[in-house]
Amino acid sequence: MKRFLDNKDNVGEEMWQLMAELYPICRSITGAGVRDTLKKIGEIIPLKIAEVPTGTKVFDWIIPREWNIKDAYIKNSRGETILDFNDSNLHVLNYSVPVNKIVSLEELRPHLYTIPEHPDWIPYHTSYYDEKWGFCLSHKQFVALEDDDYAVFIDSSLKDGHLNFGECIIRGETQEEILISCHICHPSLCNDNLSGLVLSTFLAKHLKQIPLRFTYRFLFIPATIGSITWLSLNESNISLIQHGLVAVNLGDSGKFTYKKSRKGNTEIDQAVMNVLKNSVVDSQIIDFFPYGYDERQYCSPGFDLPVGCLMRTPHGRYPEYHTSADNLEFVKPQYLAESFSIYSSVLYVLENNGTYVSCNQKCEPQLGKRGVYQQIAGHSDSQTRQLAMFWVLNLSDGDHTLLDISNRSGLDFSLIKDTADMLVKCDLLTEPVK
Ligand code: ZN
Repeated sequence: MKRFLDNKDNVGEEMWQLMAELYPICRSITGAGVRDTLKKIGEIIPLKIAEVPTGTKVFDWIIPREWNIKDAYIKNSRGETILDFNDSNLHVLNYSVPVNKIVSLEELRPHLYTIPEHPDWIPYHTSYYDEKWGFCLSHKQFVALEDDDYAVFIDSSLKDGHLNFGECIIRGETQEEILISCHICHPSLCNDNLSGLVLSTFLAKHLKQIPLRFTYRFLFIPATIGSITWLSLNESNISLIQHGLVAVNLGDSGKFTYKKSRKGNTEIDQAVMNVLKNSVVDSQIIDFFPYGYDERQYCSPGFDLPVGCLMRTPHGRYPEYHTSADNLEFVKPQYLAESFSIYSSVLYVLENNGTYVSCNQKCEPQLGKRGVYQQIAGHSDSQTRQLAMFWVLNLSDGDHTLLDISNRSGLDFSLIKDTADMLVKCDLLTEPVK
């Protein structure tokens, strides 16, 4: 498969480097962490940062108060620090209300979160819409806690402010859009979610350098509330979206997983399945289900957009998910690079798909007199090219796209596309209707 963006060396390393820079930032669905992250991305690609005030109604939801945090710790009665937010921002329940008091171990326990099966890992927990305070810690730390009085301190604030998200538009020939959406609300977690964020950033960066048919809209949004907000603010332009993907979990070593759009048989579904089938990577296709990431909102019945989710291992299917083990060692440059290639192949298919019409609908044209055989004779795979030619001529009846022909013939999309281009030059096919 031709990958029109992957002639770039080191893209996996570059993505990983950006991930390493973003990793320490304490993100949440609102607050300074989101703004710092968007600012960093805005240094690489053109990014418009939107702000929507607390209290704004977006469909059935209300933009929440903004959460910010400066510091947090637990100290024992001897003044020794047992847990420090500066060691890991996962240590604080994300969106925790502030607290500053002395509690007994018994009082402290209900506010502590651990993973007994993985005693060295810190879990990631949130409490966005339920006012609680809490700490996350390794189970080892937890069992070592003595019967004591503990100073618990969380210097966080929940105040009226804004929800921020970033939008990057790369203009193509047409106004018709391809949407790539990623969430930006997780703190120090790599596969879910920094991998989707860096992949989107580098796709945008490279797409900007080449001529495009479609206009691309990249959304960097807090999960759930972000897509709901964006859909609520942009309802009148939604019909421009022709194809979309939610980008997440793209840096682990697992096989690729494509979760289909709600409709299940749209061009994006066909394109992704075609690319995965014709690639050397392992993959699985799963049907749409109404939980997971922001595809839930894009595929809600009132929108029902052609948006799928293209990832490696799905959420919750790897033990490191939502723990401190989803870190910079867990995500590797080579897997990020492979994900970049697969995304780029999918975009190549969408950019180049079209319906051609054979000029000879009644019986095969006489190819010899048109110099067609000379065109393919020099290639080592001339037999496959000849086969591709017969498939393209036969199925170019006005009802089949190049993607249909690739799927039906089992031949690689880029071979089908090259063959169609050659046949147009030989006056055997008309220019495509895209
Ligand atoms: Zn998550």
